[in-house]
Amino acid sequence: MTQFSQLPSSSSSQASAYQSHSHSPTLVLSEKRVEIWAGSMYSCKGKFYRFDCVINLTGSSSKPYRHKIPNRFKRLMKYREVDEFIIDWPDMGAPPLPFQFWKDLLQEFRSRGKSGKPFKVLIFCVGGHGRTGTALTALYMIQNKGKIGAIDAMTSVRESYCSHAVESESQKTYLKGLHDFLSVNSASNKV
Ligand SMILES: [Zn+2]
Repeated sequence: MTQFSQLPSSSSSQASAYQSHSHSPTLVLSEKRVEIWAGSMYSCKGKFYRFDCVINLTGSSSKPYRHKIPNRFKRLMKYREVDEFIIDWPDMGAPPLPFQFWKDLLQEFRSRGKSGKPFKVLIFCVGGHGRTGTALTALYMIQNKGKIGAIDAMTSVRESYCSHAVESESQKTYLKGLHDFLSVNSASNKV
């Protein structure tokens, strides 16, 4: 009997469970005029009204969920519709976006925020891991003006948000390309 109790206990459940957890909106990146929150689709729907801008990476409008917004927030819906940014980005894939997009996006957020009243952005995909994690890592790299490499940036996002952020090799490759782009541009172009 002693032999059985000495067998190492199995801890394999963690690997298969990761896709099943969800993320309510979580503040991941913040600076004086911008807050970037992230989460998974089903935990974020119905909470869009809390944000100034929603970045929807699923490629499908979140419109079907809009009717769930409480009536007292209806006046915000028009504003929110204008600011829902829908990106058709296939699951597990790299962003269908030029590297410059991420610089322009963060610059746009900064221009809309004020100190003391940061511009609040929510980024989500379906699970809140691959596409969302890649977008968060890209924005973190822009925030740091390309001085942090792709893998270090990804590790930082995994620590502050979720250990499963960034899911595929193509996403990592894209982030490495972004770092190269920022390195080349940092000398001549202010990030
Ligand atoms: Zn997670």
